[in-house]
Amino acid sequence: MKLEADTHCHTVASGHAYSTILENAKAAKERGLKLIAITDHGPSLPGGPHIYHFGNLKVLPRVIEGVIILRGVEANILDCDGRLDLPERYLKELDIVLAGFHTFCYPGGTVEENTRAIINAIKNPCVDIIVHPGNPEFSIDIEKFVEAAKDYDVAIEINNSSFTVSRRGSEENCLQIAKKAREVGARIAIGSDAHICFDVGNFEKALKIVEVAGIKEENILNVSYLRLIDYLKDKGRDFSFIKKYQEY
Ligand SMILES: [Zn+2]
Ligand SMILES: [Zn+2]
Repeated sequence: MKLEADTHCHTVASGHAYSTILENAKAAKERGLKLIAITDHGPSLPGGPHIYHFGNLKVLPRVIEGVIILRGVEANILDCDGRLDLPERYLKELDIVLAGFHTFCYPGGTVEENTRAIINAIKNPCVDIIVHPGNPEFSIDIEKFVEAAKDYDVAIEINNSSFTVSRRGSEENCLQIAKKAREVGARIAIGSDAHICFDVGNFEKALKIVEVAGIKEENILNVSYLRLIDYLKDKGRDFSFIKKYQEY
């Protein structure tokens, strides 16, 4: 399976990532990607960018090195109410909003509390993708989570880094999530979660999980960059620039 878009990439702005937007765009071009989302961590993660970073993303060109650049965030879920660490007026201006649990930002709780937190984040109309929900550090009720994602039409991420450098022990949960997603027909997004340009578009391990779970191509958002854009448009995001891009 070939993916046209990477929905999850970090830059130096995250504080613990090592490439620039230009380096990521060049790497994406080399890998044959048509689109990448720049999704640096929300401001509550230690070393993460100040809130102004997100307000100023408007200075980014829409296309760099022939690759469409989405202005995004990987926001932190802060509590059981599913509150995020970026105010709504900022979230609304972005092209894509990812949300998930991160150490230092969310205290962690019982399975019931974590499930409540993640489902409340799903209910936030600004949230497009829930990232790395299989993290064993923050156990959730997988059935309830996937059903809520399906009901509210929020995509579930299968995160490639969860099987390489981060969140050890994620495989089993991710496979279970992927199987449940296939069963109910929930949407999947595959993200590299690259913290350096060499990993942009690296989906190898995540694709294996998706394959084992039997997820169909039609349920994977970023198989086609236009499918991803249509999904984000349906969520009220403004992609009027795309028309201009396609004309030239
Ligand atoms: Zn990170
Ligand atoms: Zn990330």
